[in-house]
Formats: sequence, structure tokens, C-alpha cells
Amino acid sequence: MLVNIKQAIALLKQSQVVAIPTETVYGLAADASNDEALQKIYAIKERPADNPLIVHIADANQVNNWAAEFPPLAQKLAKAFWPGPFTLVLPAKDSVSKIVRSGQSTVALRVPSHALTLQLLKQSGLALAAPSANKFTQLSPTTAAHVAASLGDDVAVLDGGACKVGIESTIVSVKGDDWQLLRLGMVSEASMEALAGRPALKNQQNLPKVPGQHSLHYSPKTPIKLFVSRDVLINFAKTSQKSCAALLIGEGAKPICKYVDLPKQADDVAKQLYSALHELDALNVAQLLVETPPADSEWLAILDRLMRAACQN
Ligand code: AMP
Ligand code: MG
Repeated sequence: MLVNIKQAIALLKQSQVVAIPTETVYGLAADASNDEALQKIYAIKERPADNPLIVHIADANQVNNWAAEFPPLAQKLAKAFWPGPFTLVLPAKDSVSKIVRSGQSTVALRVPSHALTLQLLKQSGLALAAPSANKFTQLSPTTAAHVAASLGDDVAVLDGGACKVGIESTIVSVKGDDWQLLRLGMVSEASMEALAGRPALKNQQNLPKVPGQHSLHYSPKTPIKLFVSRDVLINFAKTSQKSCAALLIGEGAKPICKYVDLPKQADDVAKQLYSALHELDALNVAQLLVETPPADSEWLAILDRLMRAACQN
């Protein structure tokens, strides 16, 4: 059910959820200070209660409403990457809902770069908890139609067009001068390292829990097989007993099965990745064949999503 911004604000103020557009993926939003509304996110997504939610705010001035500390390094990163596909995990104030942070001592904050959602945040005066607007472990939605396909027509959706970045935000935890990368995204590790003046801490043991780190995530219904070589993919399609469809990256020979081919630019592939997977999934073939991008740093977030999508096999 599509709603306009006025209706979206009214629903959010009545403890309802609304799917909202962002530059990364569509989020299922609720008032981040309202436990009754937050519970609805978990129920609709069928998301385990121990998976915390990102709180979306209108600007960096609101960080101090949520975080007990906003260290200079975090301020620098926020200044460089907000509004944008970048989430900061900071020590939470005691007043932050235990539901939004799943009982953890931290809170995740992001200023999204989407005009309609920034208007919604400013006009409503709310901060919005918003995980991706899909059922737990499924493919993330990058259009209003994807939201309806995953969550049904009863969910209110504010349509802001197709998402411009297309994959979920980079998540970084900052404590004092130290930072840790919790989820890869299109804000690169190298760009953060340049600003921080030091590499990310690699101490995996102390990482806060991040559901985006589940090995099965971002998955279409159809099983995925990954191929480093286009030739091997083409040969698999030719000789397989199963019905296949393929996702190709860049120029080259084509397989005999149906395929979607994406351009060779990492930004463009991120933008179209979930749409392409939604489209291929809808073909109801037995096997999706996905060509992996090069293992260069600009492709790491895309490779991460593809490996998780393929994890069910
Ligand atoms: P999604 O459901 O795709 O929007 O994912 C939200 C991401 O934000 C997940 O990877 C969460 O683990 C992460 N996140 C939210 N809150 C926190 C927090 N307090 N500490 C660590 N990660 C968080
Ligand atoms: Mg998600």
C-alpha cells in the first residue's frame, strides 16, 4: 500500500511501521523511541530479537541524543560520509531502547542520503529504526515493488524510486581512537583508513554482534552457484540437467540460458545487484549461476553479499 509523506508521518506517530526509501535499500521504519512500534518491525520481518536495528537520524547534531560518546574520530567519519551509506556504532546512552539495540551497550546510527526520507525525518521530528524491509535472511528490497513482494500489500510504503547505492551501509564501530569494520559496504575501508590515519582493529573476538554477518543472508529463493570463470559458467549452463539462469558481470561470451548482464563498474553493479537477483529469482529456475567480480578492494562489498547469498548451497 503506497502512502505519501503526510500519511507516513501519521502512521509512524501512531506506533505503526512504514517502509521508507534510502540510498542503500528500503528500510522498514518505526519510531526508534517507541518499543511497541519497534516490536512490530521484528514481528513483520520475522527477525530474531537479538539482531539490533540501525537508527536513522536527520543530521549529526542528533548523535548526542543516542550515543554516550561521540569521539573526534567518529565525528570526522560522520562529517566525511553523512548523509550516506555509512553507519556508526557508538556506546549507547542508558535511555536508548533495549529493543532497538537488542540489549547491547551500543547503538547504530546513520544519516541516510535520500531527499524524501530526510524530509520525513525532519518533518516528523522522529528518529527511525529501520532494518531492510524484507523477511529475515531474504534479498533486500531496492524498489517499492520489492517491499510489497516480500512483506505483502498491507505494509505501508513511501515510494522514493529505485535505491541509488543498492547494497546495505558500511558499518563501523568507534571507541576512542580505535575503529572496527563490522560490515562491508560501498564506503571503502581505504577511504576510512585515510581519514582515521590508522588501520581498522582486526580483533574479531570483541566485535559487536551484527546480523549482516550471518553466513546466510541476502538470499534469493533459488540456489546460487558462484563462478570465477565465465567459460566454466557457460559450460555448466550447457551441460547441466537443471534449468539455469545467469548473472554476468562485464563483457564476454554469453551462456545458452537466460541471463542478466551488469556493467563492469562496481558502483553500477551494487546499484543493480538486488534488482537483478530479484528478477532472476522470479524465473523459477532450479539454479542461478553467478559470475563473481574481481577480488579488488572496490568489489569486496559486492563479493561479500554474493557469498552470503550463495551460502545456502
Ligand atoms: P539490516 O537489517 O540489513 O538493516 O542490518 C542492520 C545492521 O546494523 C545489522 O548488521 C546490525 O547488526 C547492525 N547494527 C544495528 N545496531 C547495532 C549495534 N548496536 N551494534 C552493532 N551492530 C548493529
Ligand atoms: Mg537485512
